[in-house]
Parts: sequence; structure tokens; C-alpha cells
Amino acid sequence: MAGMRVTKPRIALVETLMKLDGPVSIERIHQQVGIKSCDLVTIYRCLAAFENLGLVRRSYLHNGTCLYEQTLGVDRHYHIVCKSCGKTDKVDYTLPDGVEQRLQDKGYSHLSHVVEFFGVCQECQQVAISARGTSIGIPARGTSVGIVTEA
Ligand SMILES: [Zn+2]
Repeated sequence: MAGMRVTKPRIALVETLMKLDGPVSIERIHQQVGIKSCDLVTIYRCLAAFENLGLVRRSYLHNGTCLYEQTLGVDRHYHIVCKSCGKTDKVDYTLPDGVEQRLQDKGYSHLSHVVEFFGVCQECQQVAISARGTSIGIPARGTSVGIVTEA
């Protein structure tokens, strides 16, 4: 990790992100690293530094909760997030051809983007079907696509 001090919390954080493998909330990361060994502010700062270095990517739950995922040795991919249980799965999706190039041509640099897919997973649909009549309020069908622009 060039240009970054290697500290104990950072090593623990990298190990944790590798182990959790997939988008996880900062609270989950904090629990895994050890609440006593590192405070939440330190985790936030480390994740922000990792993100600047491209070691970590952010994604979002339907309610806007931020999730983090390590990127080492992982191909660029997107996620489908269950609106009911929050489970995530990988999605093969390619950005429309040339969109990044066109933005660069317009003079933008340091481009980044976030694409998230949201839906209700099969398991949650089953639960909704078996609980029918008790008005659980989960739409059985329908996938929405949210495009979130990073601040
Ligand atoms: Zn689900």
C-alpha cells in the first residue's frame, strides 16, 4: 500500500474485508475487527483512505445504508440487493459503451459511478407467499434500478 502508513487497525481492517468477502456495513466490519481494538471513527477514516486508493468500493442498500467491499483481485461487478432481507448477489453488467470516454472528452477526470439493482429475492418471495393473508406488504414482483450519484 503505497503512500499509506501500515498500522495495526489498517492491517486488521484489510484482513476483515478479505474475510467478509462482499458488501458489508461499517457496523459489521467494526464488530469483526473488534469493537475494543478500534473505534468507529478510525474505521471510517481507514475506509475513506482505502477508497481513495481504490482498495475499497462503496455500494448502497435500498434505504441508503452504505456498504463496503474490498476490490483486490475482484473484477468490477455490480450488486442486486434484496429490499426485504438485504442479501446481496453479484450482477454481470457493463456500462453503456463509451460513456466514461465521453465524460472524459467533456473534461471530467477522476470519474466514478455507482449502480445498484434492487429487488426481492426468491426466499423473501416464498416467505411473502406463505404469509399471504397476513398483509406483509412485500411486492412479489418488480425490480427497481437505482442509480446513485456519489457526492
Ligand atoms: Zn431477501
